[in-house]
Amino acid sequence: MDWQPIKKTFPPWHPQPNLIDYQQSRVDFSWDAVRNELDGLPDGRGLNIAYEAVDRHAEGGGADRVALRWLGKGGEVKDFTYADLKAQSNRFANVLRSLEVGKGERVFSLSGRIPELYFAVLGTLKNTSVFCPLFSAFGPEPISQRLERGDARVLVTTERLYRKKIAALRPALPKLQYILLADSDQDQDETVLSLPRLLDIASPDFIIPPTDPEDMALLHFTSGTTGKPKGAVHVHNAVLTHYLTGKYVLDFQPGDIFWCTADCGWVTGTSYGIIAPLAHGVTNLVDAADFEAERWCRTLAGQQVNVWYTAPTAIRMLMRSGLKPKDKYDLSRLRLVHSVGEPLNPEAVIWGEEALGLPIHDNWWQTETGGIMIANYASMDIRPGSMGRPLPGIEAAIVHRVGKGEVELETHPDCEGELALKSGWPSMFRGYLHDDERYRNCFAGDWYISGDLAQKDADGYFWFVGRADDIIKTSGHMVGPFEVESALMEHPAVAEVGVIGKPEAMIGELVKAFVSLQSGSEANENLKLELLGFARKKLGSAVAPKEIEFTDILPKTRSGKIMRRLLKARELGLPEGDTSTLED
Ligand code: ATP
Ligand code: MG
Repeated sequence: MDWQPIKKTFPPWHPQPNLIDYQQSRVDFSWDAVRNELDGLPDGRGLNIAYEAVDRHAEGGGADRVALRWLGKGGEVKDFTYADLKAQSNRFANVLRSLEVGKGERVFSLSGRIPELYFAVLGTLKNTSVFCPLFSAFGPEPISQRLERGDARVLVTTERLYRKKIAALRPALPKLQYILLADSDQDQDETVLSLPRLLDIASPDFIIPPTDPEDMALLHFTSGTTGKPKGAVHVHNAVLTHYLTGKYVLDFQPGDIFWCTADCGWVTGTSYGIIAPLAHGVTNLVDAADFEAERWCRTLAGQQVNVWYTAPTAIRMLMRSGLKPKDKYDLSRLRLVHSVGEPLNPEAVIWGEEALGLPIHDNWWQTETGGIMIANYASMDIRPGSMGRPLPGIEAAIVHRVGKGEVELETHPDCEGELALKSGWPSMFRGYLHDDERYRNCFAGDWYISGDLAQKDADGYFWFVGRADDIIKTSGHMVGPFEVESALMEHPAVAEVGVIGKPEAMIGELVKAFVSLQSGSEANENLKLELLGFARKKLGSAVAPKEIEFTDILPKTRSGKIMRRLLKARELGLPEGDTSTLED
C-alpha cells in the first residue's frame, strides 16, 4: 500500500481516549471485568439489555439527561430523557403483558425511525420477548418471508404501512396475532390496535422479570448481500460487547452527543443506533429523514455531534456531492468519525481529513458478531485501507480450512486467508433461526469462520480482501475486488466501483469493473482507456481490470452494500436470486 499512516494528534480540549495502551488492555482483559462495569438486574435477577441501557441511568443520576433526541423530517425536534424512556418502555412492556405476549415471543417492527420504535425495542427487551426490526422500505414479499421465518406474534407498524404492505398478507400469517399501529388513535378491530391508546392506559411502572444472560433478545436478518438473508439469534449477554465497543471504539465520554446513521432495520441501527450509546448514558441522536448531503452536514454542525458512526456508501455520496463540509459548517465539536458495513477505500479516509477535518475510522463486524470486532481506535494511528486491530477480548486470525471441521492458522504476515474469530464472545450469534446446519458450518473447532477473506500484517492490522464468494480467480491469481475498486477510486473521474470475475475460458475469470462517474465526467471510450491504463499502472496487469463498463448506479442492498453477485448474474444473464434487500 502506498498510503502513509495518519498520525493521530489531539487538540487540547480533546478528552483522553478510553483506550490508551492497546497491548496492555489486551493482556489485562477479562469479560468479567466488563460485566462488573454494568449493573445487572436488582437482587441478582440476571442481565437485561434494556435495564443497562435505560433504567440504571434513570434510577441513578441520569434521569434528566437527554437519552434520545429525535429529529423529524420537517425540522421538529423531540427530546426524551432517560426517565421518559424508562416510563415509555415500561408502558410498552405492560402493553405486551396485557396482550399475554411472553418470554421468547417475537415482536417485529416495520416503520421508519419514529420514537415509538425505540420504546418498542426497549419495552420488548424488558418483557423478555424478542425484538426483530424490519426495514420499512421492504416490499410485501420480503416482509412476509421474515415474519413467517421469525415466528412473528406482534408487529409494530404505522397505519399507512399496514394498509399498503401487511393487510393482504395476514391470511397467510396465522401466527401474527396483533398489529400495533403507532400513529392511530383508534383500534381497527380486536387484532389491529392503536398503540398510543394502549400506551396511554398502561402503567409506567414495570418490574423486569428475571433475565438469564443467555435468554434470546434480538433476531436480526443479515443484509442479503451474498444470498438469502439469514436470521441471526442474539442474547441479552450481547450488551457486554455493545458496552465495551462503546467505550473503546466509539470512545464515549460523559455528555457526548452521538449519531449513528444506520436504520434500525439492520443490526447496526440496533447495536449502535440504540444499545451502545444508551448503555453509556450519552445522548443518542435519531434523524427520521434519509440521506441528503446538506441536511447531514447541518445536523452534524447544528446538533453539535461529537461522535459520528456512518457507512462507506454515505461517505462516498458526500464525496460525490462535492461539498467540503468543514469550510461551510462548524464541525468543531466533532471528535471521532467511524464507518462500517463495507470496505472503506483509503481515498475516503483521506477525504475525511480534508473535508471533515478528521480521518475516518474503519471498523469491521457482521450481523453474526453482534458488535464491532476489529477497529481503528481513537488513540492509534490509522493505516488507510486497514480495518484496524481486534477489540481487546477478541482473538482474530487468518485461517485456512483443512478437512472438515479443522483449520490451520496462517502464521506469516500479509498472507491471505479466511478471517476467523475465536468463538465465545458475548455478542456472538447463538444460531441461525431454523437453520442449525448452516450455523454449525460456520464453526471449525474453536473458530468462527466469517466468510470474509483478509490479511494480517506484521503489526497485527487486518486488511479486507473480499468476501469469499466474491473472490476472483484469474490466471492462477486470487484477486480481491476491494483492491481493484480502491485503485480505480483514486482516479478523479470515478465515484464508485464494483468489480467482479467474469468467466473466461483461457484465464478462468477476467477482472471486470463497473464504474459510476463523478458528476461532470463524461463516459466515453477515451476515459475507459485512460482508466484501464491507470489501473494497470497501479495494480499491474495480472490484477488490473481487463474490462470496464460505465453505469449510472450500482446495485446495492438497502443498507448500502454493493451487490457484486447481482452485477455478475446480470453480466452472465443468470437468475438474480434473492433480491429482497435490493434498493429501489
Ligand atoms: P449476507 O450475509 O446476507 O450476504 P452481509 O454479509 O452483507 O449479508 P451484514 O452482516 O450486514 O450482512 O454485513 C457483514 C459483512 O459486511 C461482512 O461480512 C463484510 O463482508 C462486510 N463488512 C462490514 N464491515 C466491513 C469493513 N469495515 N470492511 C470490509 N467489509 C466490511
Ligand atoms: Mg454475511
